Amino acid sequence: MGVDNLKNEDLFNYYECPRRFLLMKENGFLSSEMDQSIKVRHLEITRGFLDGRPYTDADWDKDKTFEAVLRRENILFPILAGRLCEMNVEMKVGGLYWDGGKYTILLPFLSREISDRHRTTAFLAYMLLKDAGIPTTEEALFLGRVRNARLKFTESAKPNFLAFMERGFENMGTVYPETSKACASCVFWNQCSAIIPEKRHLTLKALSGVTAPTLATAELYGIRTIDDLLSKPLTPEMIEKIKGVEKIKLKAYAFINDLVLIAKGFETPSEWRSGESDLYFDIEADITPYLFGFSFQDVYLPFLIKEETHFEIVARSMLRFLNARAGNVYHFFEYERKVLEQLSQKTQIPLDRIKLWDVYDILKRNMILPIQHYSLKMVAKWLGYEWKVNLEGQKSIRYFRQWKEKNDREVLQAILQYNEDDCRATEVIKRWLSDPAEFGIPVRYLSKEEMHGIIMGTQ
Ligand code: SF4
Repeated sequence: MGVDNLKNEDLFNYYECPRRFLLMKENGFLSSEMDQSIKVRHLEITRGFLDGRPYTDADWDKDKTFEAVLRRENILFPILAGRLCEMNVEMKVGGLYWDGGKYTILLPFLSREISDRHRTTAFLAYMLLKDAGIPTTEEALFLGRVRNARLKFTESAKPNFLAFMERGFENMGTVYPETSKACASCVFWNQCSAIIPEKRHLTLKALSGVTAPTLATAELYGIRTIDDLLSKPLTPEMIEKIKGVEKIKLKAYAFINDLVLIAKGFETPSEWRSGESDLYFDIEADITPYLFGFSFQDVYLPFLIKEETHFEIVARSMLRFLNARAGNVYHFFEYERKVLEQLSQKTQIPLDRIKLWDVYDILKRNMILPIQHYSLKMVAKWLGYEWKVNLEGQKSIRYFRQWKEKNDREVLQAILQYNEDDCRATEVIKRWLSDPAEFGIPVRYLSKEEMHGIIMGTQ
């Protein structure tokens, strides 16, 4: 298969789904441009490192980068371009730091750990610099929010991606579809869903929370697919070595049998029963929040922030509204709670008249669902809720920016509808948690012994 060009965006694709990367290239589709919001977040970290040293902002522009390299300046946001393995390669990095007669590649990272994608980006940038005869240190510096790390450009540290590049991606083998979170918004879904292997033969990656190290360790014990896991008795050594394997086995059991597993004795908190002044809450955010939405009964109430300068005024009126309503406020995931607590601290408006409930936290701690991811979208859709507009992922942020620029009413309507749907979906999940029987989905209540039986393969 001929791949004749490569950019950072292609690496995002590859590391999300190698099959998608190949299909995109095969069909001549362009990967979507790297989001500008990444740049804003990287800017803080890289500028922090340069700390007062002079630099040129090349703004990911080839000419500006070239001129700054000739002058041997420190460079913010350079883009390196050239030919590698008979491909046109372009790599955007966070910075180039000139010290001791050589450049060091700077790569900010926002995740907890440095991933293979980060390593591949660094290696490609290094190869491009070397190829152009530019003096470069033999290691890259990764700049994290909490800590920095170094990567030595040695043969043993080379990511597999480079080996595939050298072979022109010819020998990657057949990449079969995996149903994963990425599939939900993928253009190839129709094509892939027609050839998805039976549930049992999916790899463990298809289950939520299974990390790459867990997959690798499980493989050492001959466990690759869901079927392998269910049919193999777990030994104490496997339980010790394969992180979280007991929970993964319960997930596999629920997934294959289309059953919800709930710990016997589970009950929703007694405070949930009053229900009269219940609010459902969701935030839409770009770099900072731009929409606080609430739903209750048939009402949807948005607090929208068009201009950053109005942020505090809107936040204050939202907090006052919450205090006036009082009662239970339900949200999905911890972000909403964190933002409210920060705002309360900043404005000195207390939140003691409301009680926040993270529906996701209660769901995750007490239930095992027969679905692959516990995102708001996936759980609520599984319960039958349908969104009226589809603005998943970065799309709602793009819509918001578009509305700010062009004031288009229809775009605004879509943003508000999407946020209202998120609030209503949270309500549906809370209702299901309060009374799983109401939805007619098969549920099994398990004692500790019964759970142990499933884990050990005796049930
Ligand atoms: S639908 Fe899923 S498996 Fe298929 S290409 Fe897209 S992300 Fe990959």
